[in-house]
Amino acid sequence: MAVPRNRHSNARKNSKRSHHAKKPKCLSACSECGKLKMPHTACPACGKYAGRQITPVAT
Ligand SMILES: [Zn+2]
Repeated sequence: MAVPRNRHSNARKNSKRSHHAKKPKCLSACSECGKLKMPHTACPACGKYAGRQITPVAT
């Protein structure tokens, strides 16, 4: 495995990490009940996905 010959400066290290910031959590509104849910998952509030009942609703 290759071994680095020279150490990188702090500025070079930090500019490399300038692209490493976390993106905000992606949430979309449920088409059935309007609650925020993760995309491509059944809604945790009403248990529906693409208009179909997937999971029983915990009441
Ligand atoms: Zn819902």
